[in-house]
Amino acid sequence: MAFLSLDRFFSRQSARKGFSGLLESVNHLLWPTICLGCRSRKDDLDTFLCADCWRDLMAACGGDYCPRCGRQASRYSRIDNRCGDCQDRLIAFDAIARAGVYSGALRQIILSIKFQDRGELAEPLIRILNASLGSAAFADSIDYFVPVPLHWRRRLSRGFNQSRLLAGGLVHPTATVNTDLVRIRNTPTQWSLDPAQRRRNVRGAFAVRKNHKFSGKRVCMVDDITTSNATLNECAAVLRRAGAEKVYALVAAVAMQDRDE
Ligand SMILES: [Zn+2]
Ligand SMILES: [Zn+2]
Repeated sequence: MAFLSLDRFFSRQSARKGFSGLLESVNHLLWPTICLGCRSRKDDLDTFLCADCWRDLMAACGGDYCPRCGRQASRYSRIDNRCGDCQDRLIAFDAIARAGVYSGALRQIILSIKFQDRGELAEPLIRILNASLGSAAFADSIDYFVPVPLHWRRRLSRGFNQSRLLAGGLVHPTATVNTDLVRIRNTPTQWSLDPAQRRRNVRGAFAVRKNHKFSGKRVCMVDDITTSNATLNECAAVLRRAGAEKVYALVAAVAMQDRDE
């Protein structure tokens, strides 16, 4: 658009759409409406992804899952709210809510955030996490959102903790983000480990800060992905020892055990 025509452009837009239309037009100029996923042009400023990428992302979301372990499981296949997979498993948290399964576009977004420094892709994940939180049975009983921490060395090299980004975008009338759970040991990634190795790998890796406020509180751990639940179990045990009354989990994706974490 030629520079001289900007004024006329704005006056035409504002005459047609009013003041909000004018702001929208300015936004369109300042922030190109490019899909964060495929980088094609999109119509809506506030959706972060184009319609096709949202459709791909939603294909990995929803579905019925076990509220105890997060695995895909229909409500009719659960006994006492436990699926067949977790009947005999030790789970240290009270309940879990998840947005989807670790596949397709959801997997792609999680990997891009972590390994391509695409922190801006946390925005669409925050949208689907808020929806999952809204339908969780424990949504009204949370005092703190607690991001699963990275060791400071890994946070420095990545520049951010993806779980902290996700927790920061959660919408809740009273709960706030609490970062008093810390990682005190820089554990190797869980990628190639079997479930028993994963448990050993994270044992003793977390602690709470000295003046933490977890005593008597209901906390909800937040992470991008869980595979064997080893990390969430370890964090939950530490939070319980610190006096937390209830410990819940909210994750974007639940992966099968043979997938990367
Ligand atoms: Zn797209
Ligand atoms: Zn289960």
